[in-house]
Amino acid sequence: MDTKINYDTATGVALTNDIGATSFPCPQCGKATIFRSRNSREICVKYTCPECGFVGPN
Ligand SMILES: [Zn+2]
Repeated sequence: MDTKINYDTATGVALTNDIGATSFPCPQCGKATIFRSRNSREICVKYTCPECGFVGPN
C-alpha cells in the first residue's frame, strides 16, 4: 500500500488519484519539489516555493 501522499503546492489538494499531476524541482532554488495537480495547471494557479518564495505558473 502506497502511503506517500503528495499535495498540490498551490492549493493543498491531495494528488493521490490525479493522473495529470506532475512534480518538478523549484526552477529558482532547486531545493523544494513543486507539486501541481492537473487542475492547477489547466487554470494556471500560481504556486509559491516553500524554500525560496519563488512564485510561478510553471
Ligand atoms: Zn525555490
